[in-house]
Amino acid sequence: MPIYVYQCSDGPGCSLCGVGFEKLQKLNSEPLKCCPRCNRGVQKVIGAPNISAATPSLKEKDIEKKGFTQYRKLEKGVYEKTAGKGPDIIGDKD
Ligand SMILES: [Zn+2]
Repeated sequence: MPIYVYQCSDGPGCSLCGVGFEKLQKLNSEPLKCCPRCNRGVQKVIGAPNISAATPSLKEKDIEKKGFTQYRKLEKGVYEKTAGKGPDIIGDKD
């Protein structure tokens, strides 16, 4: 089960929601609407610090080394190769 972090959404909050508290919830369960201690409104805080670091972007050399090909969009339907093997341009550019 994921852990959600809630924080007071209106006002300073109490010692619980003022600093934010964690709540273990099922994925499909209703989000908390108010603090269990002071009953003020709370909202889910997005952004667990370890999520953004979990998917580092590949460097272009690593892309080639791993056998991937990377393209960037030039215009609608036209892509230019930036790394890896394959045609330099794909799409219907004339
Ligand atoms: Zn509270």
